[in-house]
Amino acid sequence: MNLKLQQYINGKWVGAKSGSKRDIINPFNQEIIAVVPEGDETDAKAAISAAREAFDNGTWASTPATERGTIVRKIAELIERDKLELADLESLDTGKTTVESRGDMDDITGVFRYYAELADKNGGELVDSPVPNSTSKVVHEPVGVCGQITPWNYPLLQASWKLAPALVTGNTLVMKPSEITPLTTIKVFELMEEAGVPAGVVNLVLGAGATVGAELSSNTDVDLISFTGGLATGKKIMQAASVNVKNLALELGGKNPNIIFADADFEVAVDQALNGVFFHAGQICSAGTRLIVEESIHDEFVTALVERVKKFKLGSGFDEKTQMGPLISAEHLAKVEKYVEAGIEEGATLAVGGRRPEDPELQKGFFYLPTIFTDCTTNMKIVQEEAFGPILTVEKFRAEEEAVKLANDSIYGLAGGVWTNDIVKAERCATKMRMGTVWINEFNLYFPHAPWGGFKQSGFGRELGRQGLEEYTETKHIFQNLKPASINWF
Ligand code: NAD
Repeated sequence: MNLKLQQYINGKWVGAKSGSKRDIINPFNQEIIAVVPEGDETDAKAAISAAREAFDNGTWASTPATERGTIVRKIAELIERDKLELADLESLDTGKTTVESRGDMDDITGVFRYYAELADKNGGELVDSPVPNSTSKVVHEPVGVCGQITPWNYPLLQASWKLAPALVTGNTLVMKPSEITPLTTIKVFELMEEAGVPAGVVNLVLGAGATVGAELSSNTDVDLISFTGGLATGKKIMQAASVNVKNLALELGGKNPNIIFADADFEVAVDQALNGVFFHAGQICSAGTRLIVEESIHDEFVTALVERVKKFKLGSGFDEKTQMGPLISAEHLAKVEKYVEAGIEEGATLAVGGRRPEDPELQKGFFYLPTIFTDCTTNMKIVQEEAFGPILTVEKFRAEEEAVKLANDSIYGLAGGVWTNDIVKAERCATKMRMGTVWINEFNLYFPHAPWGGFKQSGFGRELGRQGLEEYTETKHIFQNLKPASINWF
């Protein structure tokens, strides 16, 4: 593997101070694909000090925004140059198909390009002053040292949503990727070095959440935490970050409803409902795991879904016929199995799946069959909790208000879909749905210029779009009196 397999601290590639290492496992066959340093609090502290020093010396923050934009554009070019290598690494690490991984790399290049273009469009603005002979201007400054913590499902895509806006706005950062999928993030740190990002500005620490992640969240030299991951972890980070009232952006889980009205385009809705939930084996925060189908088409819709699901091809991400890869780990597979058991115990009807595949060539991987439950009700665990696997639950509705009520009956509010050919009805539902993103006659579409984030316990703060840039700036008002005069009050 043509990769440094080290941490990157203050412009140097280094092992863990403790000398500890971690095996990185291929979820398709459990083979060890790499051995990386296992950093801990000591490594995190060293990286935070480097980022602090690089921020406080002011060089990066005062580099003209256009120059920072040029470097970020260069990173995009390098990712494009090494796209195939990066995609292979992502597939090895996560089990996803190389077609998906190549698509991810294109999206990632798009994110770096988008923010490079915004670099010089983040200047200040004059506002009207109530005092004669004065100026009043609002400027946007970097927040400071950013701790960035990412999950394993879209390792590099999630990293890109954090790295690009932080860099163009003049912050310094310490990134901690998921300990089980660090490879593409390591590679991109190599590319950032090649692109000319100065030493200390970007730092990479590898290791567990309870050590490295917890240090980033609680260290008072860190000014902002941007976290993508599960709800339980998000709550811990929020508590830890209160120590110095850090800025926070939390992109947490989802249990996303997908409403299908009888007047939708049937074939397209079936196809996209499947894609919405089973893409990447359901390991997507915005997976459309809760199908809410109008009663009059319910049976026909479920039959169509089940017929298609039975034909899914599971296998290696490197086989171009594969449609669905394995789950990420043995631990995660066990969690998904538990949710299926809970669904059966709660009285949902298993329409298809509900077990591991029997094919001999899949036995070493963490595979699980795509699973559909019907006769589901909102009080069930499988309808309320995020299993983060290939499980679809189906609920029925009769009236529009009922569909929206079911959709909103969740602690989460990340994303949702509505399928209908009645555009007025679609708009009406979208307005009432309490989620950060609503797709009408579409599902799981992301692009760099539209903001992404959750309502309710799916988190707060936004990534992507202009809002994703604003997360990395503090707003300052500078007022200057050009003709100072005494007030003569005292
Ligand atoms: P996770 O919460 O277990 O881990 C995420 C990251 O947090 C990892 O890097 C982990 O090491 C770190 N971490 C763990 N404990 C920590 C602690 N105490 N302090 C600081 N950091 C800690 O999540 P995961 O299993 O890697 O990812 C799956 C979750 O991520 C799902 O819930 C999914 O919905 C969510 N997710 C959300 C989005 C979004 O945009 N909203 C995108 C992708 C994934």
